[in-house]
Amino acid sequence: MDQREFARYEVVDGVAVITLDNPPVNALAPGMREGLMAGVERAAADAAVTAIVVMGAGAHFVAGADVRQFGKVRPVSTRASAAALEACAKPVTAAIDGYALGGGLEHALACHYRIATARARLGVPEIKLGLIPGGGGTQRLPRLVGPELALDLILSGRQLTAAQGLALGLVDTVVDADGYEALRAQAIAYAGQVAAVRPLPRVGERTDRIAAATSDPAFPASLRKAAPAKSLKLLAGRHALACVEAAATATLDEGIALEQALFNELENSDESRALRYAFSAEREAAKLPGAPVDARPDPVRSAAVIGAGTMGSGIAIAFADSGVPVRVLESSAEALERGLQRIRDTYATRVKRGSLSQPAMDECLGRIRGVMQYEDIADCDAVIEAVFERVDIKQEVFARLDQVMKPGALLLTNSSAIDIDVMAAATGRPGDVAGAHFFAPANVMKLCEVVRGPRTSMDTLMRTMKMGRDMGKTCAVAGSCDGFVANRSRTPMMTELMLMLEEGARPEQIDRVMVAFGYPMGPFAVNDISGLDVSYEGRKRRAAANPDYRKLHVPDRLVDMGRKGQKTGAGWYRYERGDRTPHVDPAVEDIIGTVARELGITQRSFSDEEILQRQLFASVNEACRILEEGKAYRGSDVDAMWLHGFGFPRHRGGLMFWADSVGAATIYRQVSQWHEAYGPRWKPSALLAKVAAEGGQLRELRGQAEPA
Ligand code: NAD
Repeated sequence: MDQREFARYEVVDGVAVITLDNPPVNALAPGMREGLMAGVERAAADAAVTAIVVMGAGAHFVAGADVRQFGKVRPVSTRASAAALEACAKPVTAAIDGYALGGGLEHALACHYRIATARARLGVPEIKLGLIPGGGGTQRLPRLVGPELALDLILSGRQLTAAQGLALGLVDTVVDADGYEALRAQAIAYAGQVAAVRPLPRVGERTDRIAAATSDPAFPASLRKAAPAKSLKLLAGRHALACVEAAATATLDEGIALEQALFNELENSDESRALRYAFSAEREAAKLPGAPVDARPDPVRSAAVIGAGTMGSGIAIAFADSGVPVRVLESSAEALERGLQRIRDTYATRVKRGSLSQPAMDECLGRIRGVMQYEDIADCDAVIEAVFERVDIKQEVFARLDQVMKPGALLLTNSSAIDIDVMAAATGRPGDVAGAHFFAPANVMKLCEVVRGPRTSMDTLMRTMKMGRDMGKTCAVAGSCDGFVANRSRTPMMTELMLMLEEGARPEQIDRVMVAFGYPMGPFAVNDISGLDVSYEGRKRRAAANPDYRKLHVPDRLVDMGRKGQKTGAGWYRYERGDRTPHVDPAVEDIIGTVARELGITQRSFSDEEILQRQLFASVNEACRILEEGKAYRGSDVDAMWLHGFGFPRHRGGLMFWADSVGAATIYRQVSQWHEAYGPRWKPSALLAKVAAEGGQLRELRGQAEPA
């Protein structure tokens, strides 16, 4: 594309204005840097120009690099275009509106002055993709705001407001300008004022902030200490630290050279590939095959939740947090009060922790209203049912909703496993019924699994996806089957976890393996927090309904003994009073040993690799079966679900991405062996067998039918 299309050039009152124009957010596409450099060169050569302004067309400066460009050759790097800006002999002012992120902020840092509107947002989010700023950002940021703050901004990827940027010295002034024309006029005036000032304030030449930091004898150890341990577990975090240290101890050129070398290494790292993939898998999951391209689904402006238990109260909070008024309906005044109290407690904890202000809490609580009559929710745009997981109660609720809700209202269920069509059949409008399956705690976990029943309409699906997105959730579609996609694909992993205990693995070993894999906590430590009793009743029900059901004796026995987790002081681990540190408990080993003896299982030792593979291969096989049955659109949707529903380590990409790193053929071979050893639950999926034989990526699999 012609570079001029990306960078408009004009001269007004002796000021050259370069306007970057790549809608919608001015991402740094190939050609844009070239256009910018050509503009700077032209202004430098024009004797009538005394100063330069760089700004974005539309509402943003530059929102960052085009994500698709990572891993590809770029003819001109941000490093080069930023260097050209800084080296210019005429003063360059960056005029920032909207986003100045990543490469956008790096260009602004290379300008001699930065002015910003109040709504500007500044940041370097590269770490989220397993990268560091690679356009001089790791060198200029420490020189401008000091090494410690720079490292914080690089490792967190967080955004600053213009006011925060001003206070930290990142911007020189905040201007009151609404829109492109107004900002342009102010920027031209500002550039005129500084046109004669020499020497030019080049960030790359600044030494004051560095000198202040390095005069502390604790430097650079203090810098290392300030970095969160979890950031330094990742290669990108460690490389960011090395670059910021170099900014404080080496010349600009040396620092830039190091940044370039480390950036290149990261760009080709497994970690960054996985993180970039995770980002695109989430975006892909939001796409609905068959949806009209020009569809603009209506937003949900008011919502109702039926049942104020664990899930209902979390969902109500999620609505209130996103600004949507929500009514909560319960079956009794006591249950309603309990639910509302849980909601108030959750908000109070946030205020106590400092993550929410008191006025913001009051505003959110003001959006939540408890009601006892269905007539009081009739005018809501959407209703989410979250009552007990019982078919008869759910049907009763949907029949009632059918009577009262206004035409077109979304009738949604948070059920974990019940066929959507069972609920739809209780209404005269099955097209309006779908699943909106949230994960506990619903106000925290980011997944909303949108379940499509056989009669769910495309409009309902689109509006439910939009509702989830507006609530800040990552949405992905599942077809209606037992456990849908997320829980169904995870259940085999949980089963193998328990069965490995009987065969000789220990909870603490399994937990250690999963933490080393990247989970923040091991599955047994997590289970002690959520409570062992939660899945106990479900297992009892399944065992009663199915004589072939393989009982999980170890957890059942722990619950029978009253070991329900942290709340009872013991579960998989033992806990001291008032302390959440898990201690290995010989009593658990005894129980496992007893169960193994009773079942006639000879215990053996497990390698860490076997523990990891046994769990995850079981789930990969099930995910392939799900795709085979056409209950999901894409393999990558499974990954979006695992990342946001179960906290799968993001730097591993997701279940299927990880599986591809192992290889479908290897997995198939092992699954087949375990099929022989353990029986039908390990029957290999035909789709897995196909990919193993023919090649291809599991993450790129498409469902074999429309999910329904
Ligand atoms: P819960 O027992 O904590 O809450 C259920 C609430 O529904 C109770 O407060 C109860 O008083 C109320 N209720 C029961 N019948 C009602 C009726 N007829 N009208 C109005 N209110 C009624 O249960 P939960 O854990 O919040 O689960 C709710 C739903 O969410 C279930 O379908 C469950 O399968 C699903 N779910 C649960 C989780 C989880 O981790 N707990 C996760 C995802 C989905």
